[in-house]
Amino acid sequence: MMQLTSYRGRHVVVLGLARSGVAAAKLFHSVGADVIVNDKKERDQCPEADELTALGISVVCGHHPDELVTKNTALLVKNPGIPYTAPPIVAAQLLGVEVVSEVEVAGHLSPAPLVGITGSNGKTTTTTLTGVLLEAAGLKPLIAGNIGRPLSEAALEVAADGWLVAELSSFQLKGTSEFRPRIACLLNVAETHLDYHGSMEDYVNSKAKLFANQTLDDVAIYNKDDETCCRLAEQFKGRLFPFSVTRKLSEGVMVDPPYPTVKPGDNEVELERWIVHRGQDGLEQRIIRVDELGIPGRHNTANALAAIAIALVAGAEPESLVEPLRDFRGVEHRLEFVGTFNGVKFYNDSKATNAMATTMSILSLPSPLILIAGGLDRGSDYMELLPVFRDRLKGLTAIGETREKIGRVAALSGLTSVKIVEPEEDAELTLRRAVEEAAAMAEPGDIVLLSPACASWDMFPSYEVRGRIFKQSAHTL
Ligand code: ADP
Repeated sequence: MMQLTSYRGRHVVVLGLARSGVAAAKLFHSVGADVIVNDKKERDQCPEADELTALGISVVCGHHPDELVTKNTALLVKNPGIPYTAPPIVAAQLLGVEVVSEVEVAGHLSPAPLVGITGSNGKTTTTTLTGVLLEAAGLKPLIAGNIGRPLSEAALEVAADGWLVAELSSFQLKGTSEFRPRIACLLNVAETHLDYHGSMEDYVNSKAKLFANQTLDDVAIYNKDDETCCRLAEQFKGRLFPFSVTRKLSEGVMVDPPYPTVKPGDNEVELERWIVHRGQDGLEQRIIRVDELGIPGRHNTANALAAIAIALVAGAEPESLVEPLRDFRGVEHRLEFVGTFNGVKFYNDSKATNAMATTMSILSLPSPLILIAGGLDRGSDYMELLPVFRDRLKGLTAIGETREKIGRVAALSGLTSVKIVEPEEDAELTLRRAVEEAAAMAEPGDIVLLSPACASWDMFPSYEVRGRIFKQSAHTL
């Protein structure tokens, strides 16, 4: 993509009228581009349209017009969720029109350097914590991107001597060409979003774009415990800065003594472990004890390592990080403690939308555990859940499109307390039933965990709605 001002007087198509589409349309309009915004939804479902038409921007709702993209189109900015098979994108690609996502635009706009954070799991937790750490260190961060606020909107507000901290999805990264974070951070790569990407290769290639434009002035922070992360980061040119919970590193941020590489177990907490930074000069500095972190579980320790690494590279003093690391309690719907009801502890992990996330959450809590899982079927077989089902679960209730599949994995794991909850007339009732069934399997001292391993859209508008219904159901048992 060229500089924004070079689009003056040229034809720019913005596809998708969500917040990021509105932000992109306004930006291109403000530099004098001839902008047309298009959304497949009917006009009455596009409340954002009025604001844009009032500015004199053309908005077409209800269908994709055939003549939307022509050889005179200079650029197509797409909403990250729209698949590459959508007709206007296919047309743009046939005509050689550049297709980008809104984060690419933001990259060209930001006066501040960028921190780009991606991974299959842990993005929001790490991005939020990074914002907290940079703020505490006086480094003026603004967080945006996949976390809610359009990145290009934040790019207009961030202080030039601050940091624009971007949570990035694979969908957003796929639509980038010159996006170059000063600090890039790749947390992990698991099998997910295959329905959108079509193949694991396309998904991994999209994640790799995080590092693709980095130079030796930039830093690539990556998870040394994740094979794909190592493969992706180590082939690019940025300065490498790894983190690890299981290895002693010659440079980076690590846990000392390291966790064993075998799966996490309850006995780990007995050892006093520290988070340590080891610099290029080989000098080591202890930052905080692992058991002092405000967020539970080994996966969250990995998220904390990543955020600490970013903060140190951005220039934070290690001492400034300790208090915020202690105080940060995580983000709603991520291994969130709901309460103790009839002696049973309830945890809401509705944001766990793939098997890796659910595995990590199960391993973070002590057994005996009763899991509530299931949701949108994206074609996975969930067999990777079998070992943790076998080793850690006492019972399972399964809901949603994947209920039979997940129930089968539980049966194969040897679990006998398995309840497949058939859909009730509405989704809320179904989840309530699942919570009641799980509670019935539990005895005082047990844990009931909602960690679905699936997206929510087969039953609910969002994982937030699913999580809130779960919490209400637990409170009203
Ligand atoms: P994302 O934004 O990538 O979806 P979140 O921080 O919202 O990540 O966490 C989503 C879920 O993923 C959590 O509920 C937890 O179960 C799991 N999770 C969080 N961090 C990690 C990690 N580093 N590795 C594996 N799973 C994780």
